[in-house]
Amino acid sequence: EAKENGRGTYRFYRTALTDAANTRLALEAKLRRGLEREEMVLHFQPLIGIGDRKLVGVEALLRWQDPTDGLVPPDRFIPLAEETGLIVPLGDWVLTTACRQLKAWRDDGIMIDMMAVNLSPRQFQLPDIAERIRDVLAETGLPPHCLEIEITESALMEQAEATLTKLAALKALGIRLAIDDFGTGYSSLAYLKRFPIDKLKVDKSFIADIPSNLADMEITAAIIGLAQNLNLEVLAEGVETTAQLDFLRGKGCDTAQGYLFARPSSAEDLIRTLVEGRAAGWTGPIGSGWHR
Ligand code: C2E
Ligand code: MG
Ligand code: MG
Ligand code: MG
Repeated sequence: EAKENGRGTYRFYRTALTDAANTRLALEAKLRRGLEREEMVLHFQPLIGIGDRKLVGVEALLRWQDPTDGLVPPDRFIPLAEETGLIVPLGDWVLTTACRQLKAWRDDGIMIDMMAVNLSPRQFQLPDIAERIRDVLAETGLPPHCLEIEITESALMEQAEATLTKLAALKALGIRLAIDDFGTGYSSLAYLKRFPIDKLKVDKSFIADIPSNLADMEITAAIIGLAQNLNLEVLAEGVETTAQLDFLRGKGCDTAQGYLFARPSSAEDLIRTLVEGRAAGWTGPIGSGWHR
């Protein structure tokens, strides 16, 4: 019986593997087609100053408007794009579209100071990534200081010596650099000190259970303190409650991002909310001179 059982198991796995591979191939082809057919869209989420509630910038977040499945979140297709290399053309599209959008807003008198764009590990590893970003800035006419590139902590620490050179090349463009999802990777503090970065973004997993989880509060406070000591800006991700905001303000955190202020939304909806000053739970000023 054991034999039969084994064979059955084998057959089961073979089918399951084939199905998984087919699903993956189908999704990959669909994603490639989606990029060609311009089904990708960017949503934008405000980054807010904790002290004055001003808009300090927006983060571009990728979505896929699939004709049959609707709006697909990035977690459902970015890992595959990263594996297959499709992230390279996809990432170029994101960079160009995000920079073009901020330039267009600024030309319209909507003076948002900064556009944050996520860079995947594979994009960061491209030998010519600095040239690519330089070309996008030249092509779109966005001033370099208006672009912030977010790189995850794990991507940076993978080959820290090579990273140092790469970051220096990016920084030389005049752009801003942020470490995304900080606290979830394994940072070497010795390298952190040497990286030419501007900002740490505290991962939202540490914010979620404030104020009930004391360990998360200690970790968050420690990251804020670390940023202050290294003269870096610090932003808390995933701020959903006023209790979280009060805690962060008490610890001296500079900026925040989260549903408490605004969810990511389309360009049109973002501008409508900003113009009408109706961002959820947020009635403060938008930023001096943000609109003519
Ligand atoms: P991320 O860069 O850490 O982006 C922040 C994520 O937190 C976004 O998820 C955002 O919608 C979500 N978020 C913001 N505020 C809150 C909140 O108050 N509560 C909760 N629960 N979540 C909040 P999203 O848009 O689903 O993106 C997920 C991840 O996908 C991003 O995490 C980023 O790693 C990746 N991603 C998104 N767009 C791009 C892109 O253009 N390129 C690359 N390489 N990765 C991207
Ligand atoms: Mg990010
Ligand atoms: Mg993040
Ligand atoms: Mg994240």
